[in-house]
Amino acid sequence: MTADNISTNANAKNRGVVIIGANLAGGRAAEALRMAGYEKPITLIGEEPSPPYERPPLSKDVLIQPDELPDQFYIKDDSYYPDNDIDLRLGVRAESLNIDEQKVTLSTGAEIGFEKVILATGARARELNIEGSDLDGVHYLRALQDARELSKELQPGARIGLIGMGVIGAEVAASARKRGCEVVCIEPLAIPMARALGPRFGAWLAEIHRQEGVDVRLGCGVKTILGSDGRVSGVVLSDDSTLELDALVVGIGVIPNVELAEAAGLETDNGIVVDAFAQSSCPLVYAVGDVANSPLYFGGRGRCETYQNAQDQAIAAAKAIAGQPDEYLKAQWFWTDQFDINLQVLGDVISEAEVIIRGDENSRNFTAFFVRDNIIRGVLTVNQPRDMAAGRRMLERSITVDTAALADPDIDLRKLIKKAR
Ligand SMILES: Cc1cc2nc3c(=O)[nH]c(=O)nc-3n(C[C@H](O)[C@H](O)[C@H](O)COP(=O)(O)OP(=O)(O)OC[C@H]3O[C@@H](n4cnc5c(N)ncnc54)[C@H](O)[C@@H]3O)c2cc1C
Repeated sequence: MTADNISTNANAKNRGVVIIGANLAGGRAAEALRMAGYEKPITLIGEEPSPPYERPPLSKDVLIQPDELPDQFYIKDDSYYPDNDIDLRLGVRAESLNIDEQKVTLSTGAEIGFEKVILATGARARELNIEGSDLDGVHYLRALQDARELSKELQPGARIGLIGMGVIGAEVAASARKRGCEVVCIEPLAIPMARALGPRFGAWLAEIHRQEGVDVRLGCGVKTILGSDGRVSGVVLSDDSTLELDALVVGIGVIPNVELAEAAGLETDNGIVVDAFAQSSCPLVYAVGDVANSPLYFGGRGRCETYQNAQDQAIAAAKAIAGQPDEYLKAQWFWTDQFDINLQVLGDVISEAEVIIRGDENSRNFTAFFVRDNIIRGVLTVNQPRDMAAGRRMLERSITVDTAALADPDIDLRKLIKKAR
């Protein structure tokens, strides 16, 4: 679809921006529009009952201390939206996007005209489809209510099974151990968090979980979920062994919420296809956050399910709409907190590269640099946030590095950056 075949509606110019999806990316987009001086109406539509909030604590703080939400859980105070003339509509779904008529139809039947639309519809948990999947005690974790329900299961001594040991599964396992549960992780692949950490550090993480008392079962699937009186009581594994469980958490990835975009005729491919300004195949529509399939820093394209991406891509879309386009092409960064470990990952830690370790890889305090042709392509830090800050600067500036110096913890990384100038 191009600008040429979009009918120009006389009133459209004054209609402003409609943002569909009121979580991190949607909330940040609204905020960034106002910060960029955008003065027309902004409507932010979210199907969840809560104003935009932080999902990262859901698998960490909220599970560990369910009685109180962490400080700054909501990305803005309630007063922020009226004060900034942002029409926040919660508990309402956008049911359709009509590009020709430049309007969005809501589940209430209301119609809102737009000049531009930002799709920030995110992703939903992929559901398991095996016998017993619908039993009580089978949980997913995406929204605040999911975390509240799951936290009730995490009683001391409860036997909690996790299907899938990606980021969410591994974080829930750590939180459940902190609550005194018996935890077993069932992961079909040979290593946990494989997509995020690659084989070497995925295996390292599995060992940390074992040290913390998690029963890590790798290369193992679940055939059937067993139930008793309508509630989960265990699972049958792919080797036909049985585990007795009190609750089960399924963390097998997400599905991007592309249905509105698809029905509107936008190009999709595992997400809504956008350019480096977050613009979709239709110039009136932008897509940001977990739902967007974007150009990647090291080439190719893909969907990024990270906090940093949701936030920064939302800002890029807002700037483009406000007439201040600024190309968004950043190396991906995410963090995870498990047990006493803060793990941060930047750039490409998966593809073939020389791995330079700074510190002791067998400890909980080290940094790994992923280097190709003396240029850093990825950084992984374990309880070393300062190395991440320096590593980011080196990666973004494509500094040629001396690998022996990188590996030496006595050499200040900031000096290496200065020397390279
Ligand atoms: C439990 C958990 C822990 C995480 N921890 C980390 C972490 O430690 N580090 C990190 O980097 N990242 C983490 N993330 C990832 C990060 O939170 C996400 O990348 C980020 O929330 C994506 O934001 P988003 O706004 O694009 O999508 P979402 O947060 O999914 O928000 C999309 C919103 O749109 C709404 N919506 C969808 N369709 C419609 C419609 N038709 N009408 C109205 N509303 C609609 C949805 O209900 C939802 O509220 C975590 C994610 C989860 C789930």
